[in-house]
Amino acid sequence: MTPLSPEMKAQLEEQKKQCLFCRIIAGEIPAKKAYEDSRMVAILDINPAVRGHLLLMPKEHHPILPYLPPDEFAHLFGRLPQIVSAAKSSLAASGVTIIIANGYAAGQQSPHLLFHLLPREQGDQADLALNSSSSVGPTDQGSFFRSIKKTLSPRLERLRDRTDATPKGEVKTAGFLAGKKIGKMVAYEDRKALVTLAPHPLAKGHLIIFSQEEPALIERLSPESMVYLMNMASLAATTVFESLQAQGTNIIIRSGKSDDNPEGILDIHIIPRWTEDSLGLQPRPMEQPPDQDQILDQLREEMILIEQEKDVCQEKDLIDLDNREEAAKEEDPGTPEASLEQKAGIPLIPKDPADEIKEAIGKIQKR
Ligand SMILES: [Zn+2]
Repeated sequence: MTPLSPEMKAQLEEQKKQCLFCRIIAGEIPAKKAYEDSRMVAILDINPAVRGHLLLMPKEHHPILPYLPPDEFAHLFGRLPQIVSAAKSSLAASGVTIIIANGYAAGQQSPHLLFHLLPREQGDQADLALNSSSSVGPTDQGSFFRSIKKTLSPRLERLRDRTDATPKGEVKTAGFLAGKKIGKMVAYEDRKALVTLAPHPLAKGHLIIFSQEEPALIERLSPESMVYLMNMASLAATTVFESLQAQGTNIIIRSGKSDDNPEGILDIHIIPRWTEDSLGLQPRPMEQPPDQDQILDQLREEMILIEQEKDVCQEKDLIDLDNREEAAKEEDPGTPEASLEQKAGIPLIPKDPADEIKEAIGKIQKR
């Protein structure tokens, strides 16, 4: 994780004191808790977009995903397949959409990192229109592809090499990932996952990560595979954020059938965001929310069974993504020639993640 300066630590402490979710976690403000263990909680959203709309969050206050320490990262995402499974079976949902927003421009509304988990069913009102095409032209994507591949591939290779669970050696693309789904611009591939530029991008730099192990259902992924995919997603989000000088990023996971995912495929979208991009990608509250107490009772029956389980992710699965920079320095063969992005006048100078957090904190405080 990114180290914090003393000034930022002080700022965070101040933010924590005012944080609604820290007070909910401490029990000072009532909320409908559907799941709770030593490190995370899931509460029902008071303005649900769908039946059983949950907010998953670490108990510790962290403003954005890059600041989540590796052990908490592994716990949260290692638990995710089971939580999805419990939510789906208790509500008889056919699919799920999980939305993570990093930064105000990406729709982050709380200074406490949280994920929206939306159980999905046919005919619900949570269509995020992830498949709709945008104004991003093919030339734009082509030049971006070459530059992102150069930056992202070595980072993901290092992640793979530090993860025991991901065997090296010959990579064969999974049969279920044929053709249209992945398009022609595959930026990275290993035995567990494949990263491609979205064939129908919503914004420049829109990437999609597919599992090579599971075509559709997130609940079938092992905790290790889930954590690995999310480490990739976090690294990919930081990489596009830096290379495009974006103002935020969304990570959106889809799995199982819904109106906006008729084939029910499992994919993880990485979408760079800018304040003025008008992409939305926010779940809209239902006009007539259902009886929340009844939903809570249904969810609790299943969730209670997984709360006491021990973590299966071991020490070796904990990847500190920020050590990648050190590793990158060691292996850097020299200054690469100017990329097409740079030639086109788009700076590739990485933005200091510290600025991102300051900006995020600043914007949240202004609200
Ligand atoms: Zn908090």
